[in-house]
Amino acid sequence: MDFYQSDTQRLKAIQERDPKADGRFVYGVLTTGIFCYPSCASRTAKPENMRYFDSTDEALSAGFRYCKRCRTDLQPLSDRQRHLVVQACRLIGNDEKIMRVDALAQTLGVSRFHLQKLFKEYVGVNPKTYMQAVRMHCLHRSLDSHSTITEAILDAGYDSLSGFYSDVHKRLGINASAWRKGFNTMDMRYGFAQSPVGLMVVAQTDVGVCAVLFGESREQLIEELTTRFPKAQLLFDEQNLSLHLQAIIKHLHEPSKCNDIPLDIQGTAFQERVWQALRQIPCGSTASYAEVAKAINQPKAARAVAKACSSNPIAVLIPCHRVVKGNGELSGYRWGVERKRALLDSEQ
Ligand SMILES: [Zn+2]
Repeated sequence: MDFYQSDTQRLKAIQERDPKADGRFVYGVLTTGIFCYPSCASRTAKPENMRYFDSTDEALSAGFRYCKRCRTDLQPLSDRQRHLVVQACRLIGNDEKIMRVDALAQTLGVSRFHLQKLFKEYVGVNPKTYMQAVRMHCLHRSLDSHSTITEAILDAGYDSLSGFYSDVHKRLGINASAWRKGFNTMDMRYGFAQSPVGLMVVAQTDVGVCAVLFGESREQLIEELTTRFPKAQLLFDEQNLSLHLQAIIKHLHEPSKCNDIPLDIQGTAFQERVWQALRQIPCGSTASYAEVAKAINQPKAARAVAKACSSNPIAVLIPCHRVVKGNGELSGYRWGVERKRALLDSEQ
């Protein structure tokens, strides 16, 4: 976790345009006033003109502006891309109506071309081949059957469906059992902690944290997890979650510090766009529903935005508490207005 801490490591990452460093730190360039992710393709500035920051918030408060090239106003590109591919795989595994790549691209809100390119890059085969593999797996329920492997997977250099799946899961960083089950069920680990704003449950999949919820009792929180994720197999596992639990508590105490807790955002395409937009509201500021609607290019959708905010499953890390009424008044909060006020106060 401690990579890219020293200036030497950071400079090296920038010079090598290391995408793994994206999300760990950003750098501002004094001569342009712009700040970038380490992998930005723009011309490397002189080291003496660079300033390093742990988070985009810090770069902003130091007066630097977002880079239009590497889009520091958004999550790092590799996160966004991987997330899109994971979502595509989930849809293919879960939704029998999605039989065509066009429909898949439309559901995800991207072009067919873009989806195909990314899918090929991350999974190694195109989405159509992957769909066939999933279908076949559903029909035969056997990962080792050589007789059912498609030509396309053979062409991609795999001699078995199981070899294909295990390679895909490694590429995307997902547990093999999740693939075997075709995402119809998914293992979800959860644990509790006392936070500054009350009892909190955190749940994670192999992809990242998928839920942060507040409540009055453990029973109530488990019930909410079950309702929100009906297909998940819940496993109580505080040991495995302890790092994330601690990181979230730390984040609640120091909201302006960068956190690189990986998220597994699961919602409809519209909800996810809203939730991603919420993540761009800097710590210490607020936005109105109308402003968020504008940010996702749907200026008339303020009410739908409000609804997406209230269904956000990842409290605090997707900061829906930073959305307020147009006149600046606190509006409702899924976990109570008192909590919302406390969270906003702690960011001042
Ligand atoms: Zn840049």
